[in-house]
Amino acid sequence: MERFAVAQILGAGTVPASVLARLACDSELTRVVFGARSQVIDVGRAERTFTGPRRRAVIARDQTCRYPTCTAPPALGEVHHVEHWARGGSTDANTGILLCRYHHDVVHRSRIEIGRSPTGGWTFTARDGAMLPRAA
Ligand SMILES: [Zn+2]
Ligand SMILES: [Zn+2]
Repeated sequence: MERFAVAQILGAGTVPASVLARLACDSELTRVVFGARSQVIDVGRAERTFTGPRRRAVIARDQTCRYPTCTAPPALGEVHHVEHWARGGSTDANTGILLCRYHHDVVHRSRIEIGRSPTGGWTFTARDGAMLPRAA
């Protein structure tokens, strides 16, 4: 749990960085930069994360939640950015992975890193460096 809130949600108050990243991962986001006296310094253009053809491409490729052992269908899915776009990642379909809502939460909450395996699949790495699923 982060010690300092980094964002405010209207009507909900401040939220920590992990919650902001989770919300921004599959949503429309506009960056607004405020100065010290609350003056607006800069407003970025609204950018939706995976939509339209790119979203359909991710769903067609992945078909179900890609978290190890999960088979949740796309109707329950969200598209997660393996290179988080709020940190400069692109929204190319190859940087998106289909996860069910539950596992999307797990990935953000547990800060699981997702990468490409040499065979074209996905790798899931826990914060302690262990590959998922863990050996029994
Ligand atoms: Zn995500
Ligand atoms: Zn899942």
